[in-house]
Amino acid sequence: MSNFARREFLTGAAVLAAATTAAFLKSEEAEGGDTSFMNNVPDPSLSGKDLPTFKFALEKSEGKVIGKSFGKEATVEQLPISKGIAGVSMRIEPGAMRELHWHATAAEWAFVLEGRVRTTVIDPHGNSETNDFNAGDVWFFPRGHGHMLECLGNEPCQFILIFDNGYFSEFGTFSISDWIGHAPKSLLAKNFGLPESAFNGFPKEEVYFARGAVPPEKPATPLQGLKLPPQTHKYELLEQAPHAEFKGGREWRVDSTRFPISTTITGVVLDLEPGSLRELHWHPTADEWQYVISGKISVSMFGSHGRYRTEELEKGDVAYIPQGYGHSIENIGSTPCRILIGLNTGVYQAIDLSQWIAGNPVDVLATNFGMPAALFEKFPKKDVFIADQQGR
Ligand code: MN
Ligand code: MN
Repeated sequence: MSNFARREFLTGAAVLAAATTAAFLKSEEAEGGDTSFMNNVPDPSLSGKDLPTFKFALEKSEGKVIGKSFGKEATVEQLPISKGIAGVSMRIEPGAMRELHWHATAAEWAFVLEGRVRTTVIDPHGNSETNDFNAGDVWFFPRGHGHMLECLGNEPCQFILIFDNGYFSEFGTFSISDWIGHAPKSLLAKNFGLPESAFNGFPKEEVYFARGAVPPEKPATPLQGLKLPPQTHKYELLEQAPHAEFKGGREWRVDSTRFPISTTITGVVLDLEPGSLRELHWHPTADEWQYVISGKISVSMFGSHGRYRTEELEKGDVAYIPQGYGHSIENIGSTPCRILIGLNTGVYQAIDLSQWIAGNPVDVLATNFGMPAALFEKFPKKDVFIADQQGR
């Protein structure tokens, strides 16, 4: 081949390759998928011979404490595998408030464990919404939207926050007192059309948990009057009927199909009776973050290449399963257990092992495992989802 012909040939091949790649990417996009995985750059924490730990004892950690309020976090700092999701356990004492702040790098989803909470959130259209929450309720604040959380009534409240970014941290959290405390008074005076003296006595450092009077039972109207957003930030998860009920347990689930504003997080509450199992499954489109509300569980994780790991979790522990990794949850205690699960997707997807097997002809299964076809006739013909102690 002459140099000229070679050049022509290579150019033609390169053009063809580029066109093919572009067409492929385009068809992937058309299906609504995220194409970033096609780079398939191995995550160093997941490409070793063995799987790393995927458990962290969140409630045993100290966290940030002010008075009787605290915030304990699980980010990549505490649980390196958890790159896609971070979580915080927060308790606020009566009269205290998690001050006005926003998260630059994550949306916030929450589940109230106990007590009552009030939130006010602002959106980029200037709409604000105030909501009151009881145990079992959920909120969602899109990335960057300013909000505050305060304890209602005379009992403390506690809730679990889930963020759709494992690198979420205090450095990605912007508090109003921190900002105002570090801006010159002359700038603030011009900004608000007030004398500089109006800013005398403002906190100079971040307040984080502000403490004052117990809020009024009925929220007061905002300075600007009522200007409500089109979509609510509140969802009463445990007020709904479970979407799945079995002899061995039940599950509540909420994603954007039921709670439209929650476009990046799905929440699940899973109850398992002693000995029961949420079967082997995986999530094609999401990482999973687990928090044990009560009971004792064994979580298994399958990471390909013969890599398999099990962790035992108790009340207050968290676990993390990367996107696409096989896993299961089994109640190994003597009492019922309850697990809060967050997935970083607005549309829930899962494939259960029993369903996968049921979706194949017996001859395929017989050949795959080198076992008699008759054996596979005995396998479940539909999704198991939750198996009880006897495997029923
Ligand atoms: Mn927040
Ligand atoms: Mn799962």
